[in-house]
Amino acid sequence: MQRWLIPTLALFVFAAFAFPARAEGVIAVTANKFTNNFPTRLLFQIAARSPARISKIALTVQVDGQTSSSRYLPEFTPDVQVDTSYEWNIQRNYVPPGVSGQFWWMLQDDAGNQLQTPKQNFRVEDSAQTWQKLANNKLAFYWYAGGDGFGRGLFDRAVEAISYLEKDTGVTVDQQVQIWIYGNRADFFRALGPGARDWTGGRALPEYGIILINVEPGALEWGKAATAHELTHIIIHERIRGPLGSISMPQWMDEGLAVYYETIPNKLDGQFSGPLKRAIDSNTLLSLRSISGNFPSNGNDASLAYGEGFSVVDFIIRRYGASKLAQLLQAFKAGGDFDDIFKQVLNVDTDGLENLWRKDIGAKPREVAPRVRVAPSPMPTFGLSTDPFVAPSPTPQAVALNATPAPAPASEPRAPEPIVISCGNAFAFAALAFFGAMRARNYFGRG
Ligand SMILES: [Zn+2]
Repeated sequence: MQRWLIPTLALFVFAAFAFPARAEGVIAVTANKFTNNFPTRLLFQIAARSPARISKIALTVQVDGQTSSSRYLPEFTPDVQVDTSYEWNIQRNYVPPGVSGQFWWMLQDDAGNQLQTPKQNFRVEDSAQTWQKLANNKLAFYWYAGGDGFGRGLFDRAVEAISYLEKDTGVTVDQQVQIWIYGNRADFFRALGPGARDWTGGRALPEYGIILINVEPGALEWGKAATAHELTHIIIHERIRGPLGSISMPQWMDEGLAVYYETIPNKLDGQFSGPLKRAIDSNTLLSLRSISGNFPSNGNDASLAYGEGFSVVDFIIRRYGASKLAQLLQAFKAGGDFDDIFKQVLNVDTDGLENLWRKDIGAKPREVAPRVRVAPSPMPTFGLSTDPFVAPSPTPQAVALNATPAPAPASEPRAPEPIVISCGNAFAFAALAFFGAMRARNYFGRG
């Protein structure tokens, strides 16, 4: 017996050195769970065991439509049996309902065994409501209040807006946009997370292709305009944003397009056309340069700016044709000085365009103003309405937490902060007819 025992032992010793215990499947995952607690938190939980002490645990989260993933190192006590969790605080690092993605865990023990769990899907949902859904390949539309006719009315209008927008501007919607309609303000603000201004009527998050709008069941017509408005923003933004998510185009054009597609056929709402007409009559139009950046915060000037935006977009399409509008959008995507882009596509700079437009609508020629060049802004002037919402910094949440005791490996680059568009004023004016003056004042909340 002893004669073969010694060679066998030697073989085992050799095998142990030659093939250290790195076999797959040594670490066993005993629990792996995602819990959606929108709007509070998303919870990723893991439990595992291994013959050797598990000393490294990392969670990777990849949000659909974003180029980079985020890696998190939750705290835990290394042991042969471990459980830990990563809590994504939605109040600090906001994500809207409808966001989906994948996550997976990487575990390692002291013997060098590693395990990566299969990629699992997750989705952020506002389960406080019982959602109804209508969808086609370009749009997923959700609502819970107002009944079938209400939802169908808004959905049909959104589909119509997409088809006109695609036809006119040459953009194509190849990623399904999600629209979530909230039937009352309390539900809506609960879903927006912290920091929302009380005049906000809708919000578009182009990073995710998701729109949230507050449409009360009694405000169907207003809701159609609001839906088309936000949808236009999000489609244009998705199409022309640069590789880093930055977008640069004149604010008057961004809002002008959004107002232009609020109604089909494109007709300027009386709440904007009134101020526009008065400004033409009294020669008090705002210069295009002055509304290339942020819109005025003053309510009357803001409504005039929306009206002018519509009017100039309408002029460009009538005078130059939709193909030139499409070319302008392409040029803004490529980036550059606004004047250079207008010259390149329309043969006039901002002032030249303004002069032609003024003549077209019957306004007096503009007085020669000191010339100020409009530089493209590095951060989006784009899409931010008069009082832009700025999402709270995600820093505390998205930075990897140190694991115990292993020092944290470098975090992968995290996704840029979503660009958020909040539209209030455009709707505030249109809302007058539906909610009355008191109601509309709430949309401003600053007056
Ligand atoms: Zn807008």
